[in-house]
Amino acid sequence: MAESHPGVVILSFEDARRVVEGQAALVRAPQLETSDLVGATGRVLGEGIVADRDIPPFPRSARDGFAVRVVDLSHIPAKLKVVGEIRAGEKPEHIPARLNSGEAVSIMTGAPVPASADAVVMVEYTSSQGDYVEISKSATAGENIVARGSEAREGSMLLRPGTRLNEAAIGLAATAGKDRLEIYQRPQVAVLSTGDEIVPVEATPGPTQIRNSNSYSLAAQILEAGAIPVLLPIAPDEPRRLRQLIEQGLRADLLLLAGGVSMGKYDLVEQILGEMHAEFFFTGAKIQPGRPVVFGKVPFGAESPGGGSSKYFFGLPGNPVSTMVTFELFARPMIEALGGMSPRKLMFVHARLKCEIRVKTGLKRFLPALLSGEFECSQVELLAWQGSGDMAATARANCYVVVPPDREHIAAGEFVAVMMR
Ligand code: AMP
Ligand code: MG
Repeated sequence: MAESHPGVVILSFEDARRVVEGQAALVRAPQLETSDLVGATGRVLGEGIVADRDIPPFPRSARDGFAVRVVDLSHIPAKLKVVGEIRAGEKPEHIPARLNSGEAVSIMTGAPVPASADAVVMVEYTSSQGDYVEISKSATAGENIVARGSEAREGSMLLRPGTRLNEAAIGLAATAGKDRLEIYQRPQVAVLSTGDEIVPVEATPGPTQIRNSNSYSLAAQILEAGAIPVLLPIAPDEPRRLRQLIEQGLRADLLLLAGGVSMGKYDLVEQILGEMHAEFFFTGAKIQPGRPVVFGKVPFGAESPGGGSSKYFFGLPGNPVSTMVTFELFARPMIEALGGMSPRKLMFVHARLKCEIRVKTGLKRFLPALLSGEFECSQVELLAWQGSGDMAATARANCYVVVPPDREHIAAGEFVAVMMR
C-alpha cells in the first residue's frame, strides 16, 4: 500500500520545533470553567484581568521615616518641626492637608504620603529632638515615594488570557479584587505505549520483558504541562490491536504514542497512521536522544477522511530518556496551546562546564546533566550514562546540556547552554 508509507522528513531541531510552534498557534482555546483564586494556581487564565483602581491607589511611602519637602533640605543638617504621624491605613481626614515650610511628618512604610510632601527620608538619617527632627541627608524629589498608579493605571490590563497562573499572577489577581477566576478547562492527552516486550507495572515481567515506564513518565509530564493524562492499555506490535488503540486515543485532544517509530521490522506506528491518512509534518529530527520523533495530524471523526475533524499526534521514540526529552522539546508546546496558553519559547541558561565533552557531530544533543555549585557560581557536568535508555542517570539529573551539532569537543571551563527540567 503506497499511501501507508509516509515520506521521510528529517528536520533540524530548530525547524522541527518551529513546525510544532506553527501548528500550536493554530489550535483553538478550550472551554472555560470557574475557580477560586488559590485553586487556580498552575492553571491557565481564560479572562483578562483589569486593574479596578490605580496601583498603588495613593502615593505610598516605601520607608519608615519622615515625609518632607525637598526644598527644606537645601542645608544639611536641617531641623524640621514634626506636625503629625501617618500610619499605614490612616484615614484620609487624619492626613495633614499640606506641609508648610520647615515642617515634616512622621510616616510609616505603606502609609499615604501627604500631597505637599515630595520625598520621604529614611528614619536611619534622622534623629528626633522633642517636637523637631534633625535630618542629616538631602533628598531628591520622589525619593522613597511610589507614585499613585505607577505600577498600573486603573483600567489597564494586568493579566492576559493565556497566562499560566504562578504565584505572582495569583497575587496580582488578588490585588485586583478577583476572588474567582475564569480558567481554561484542561485538555485530555492520551498516552499509548507500544511494544510486545512491555508489560504493565503491576505484572511480574518475564526474563526478556520490560515494565512500562513511559506511560507514567509521560503522565507526569502531561500533568506538569497542565493537562489530564489518559493512559491506554499497552499496544502490542500487531497492526489490528494497535490501530484499535490509536483510534481510542484519538478521542482525546492529543495522542502521544511511545515506541514503535524506529526503523525496525515491527515498528508499525507510522505505517498504521499512514493507513489512517495521517499527514506527517516530520518523521525525524537531527537530535540525540530522540531522533525518530514523529509529528502529524490524522483525520478523525464520523466523516473522516475528508469531512470530520483531525487530531494531532506525536510518535515519541520508546527509549525512556528519548521519550522524556522529545516530550519536552516538541509535545509540551502543543499541550500548552491546547490548554489555552500563550506560546512559550524554550528557555536556556548558560553554565560553566566542569568536565570536557566529546561527541560525534551531526546531531544536536540533549545530555542529562547535573547543575550544581554555590550561589551565583553554578557549574554543570554530564552524568555517566548508558545511552537513551538510561533512566537511572536521568533521574539523578536536573537539566540537559545542549551540544550543538557542529561541536565534537567542548573543553572544561567553557560555557554551555543548559535546558532546565
Ligand atoms: P522502540 O522505540 O519501540 O524501538 O523502543 C526502544 C527501546 O525502549 C526498547 O529497548 C524498548 O524496550 C524500550 N521501551 C519502549 N517502550 C517502553 C516503555 N513503555 N517503557 C519502558 N521502556 C520502553
Ligand atoms: Mg518497540
